[in-house]
Amino acid sequence: MIEIRGLTKSFDKHKVLNQIDLTIRKGDVVAVIGSSGAGKSTLLRSINLLEVPDAGTIRLDQLQVDFARKTKADVLELRKSTAMVFQHFNLFRQKTALENVMEGLIVVRKVPKEEARKIAARHLAGVGLSDRMHHYPKQLSGGQQQRVGIARALAMQPKILLFDEPTSALDPELVGEVLDTIRKAAEAGNTMLLVSHEMSFVRKVATRVLFLDQGVIVEDGTPEEVFSHPKSERTKQFLANYY
Ligand code: ATP
Ligand code: MG
Repeated sequence: MIEIRGLTKSFDKHKVLNQIDLTIRKGDVVAVIGSSGAGKSTLLRSINLLEVPDAGTIRLDQLQVDFARKTKADVLELRKSTAMVFQHFNLFRQKTALENVMEGLIVVRKVPKEEARKIAARHLAGVGLSDRMHHYPKQLSGGQQQRVGIARALAMQPKILLFDEPTSALDPELVGEVLDTIRKAAEAGNTMLLVSHEMSFVRKVATRVLFLDQGVIVEDGTPEEVFSHPKSERTKQFLANYY
């Protein structure tokens, strides 16, 4: 279970996240929707401390971190417990698909190389890339590269998977294969926090939807509640742009 309390982050004088409280249970697939600049990426990046919040706490099972007093050990533990899939894949260009997936296992998890190779191969097979393991990113389509990114995240067996607009850099015809891969990972019981503008996908796959507006969670409910019966005017306005 993940418990975030009072997460607040400003850039200069602009409060980007304002007192966010959020509890995510094991197996939840939580989608975050909201306009550009709402703070969605900052929320995800705060969870693994790619951004350091000004105030608030996070509890991840036994690990309790006060953002304002975090230690190096806290940062390491949070990074080990989370894995992120980025909009622009962020693969190592000079490594093959297999080596990309092995890297975190070896460096962060200290898994012996041969075992890391087996785990990585299994996860690449899981995303349908058995026949592309020895290809470099530039030899792969965007959709294939993102599936490597997902295999790399899954291989770390994180307590939570963070997806930041994983399909928004892809050509339309490649979006489906990546969404299918994410859906499979959700159905396998992985805990996820996903920023996405793919509303029909969110509606089908998320167990819960948050609407973030100007750094505040203004809506939090099942897809049915948020999409069909939004409570706030802001949510209604936002959704009107999609339907
Ligand atoms: P988008 O849908 O465009 O990705 P977002 O909801 O992910 O938007 P964030 O990236 O979290 O929004 O940004 C929230 C606000 O914080 C924006 O106004 C952005 O300009 C600002 N911001 C984000 N990162 C930084 C930074 N490193 N330095 C200064 N301002 C930042
Ligand atoms: Mg963003």
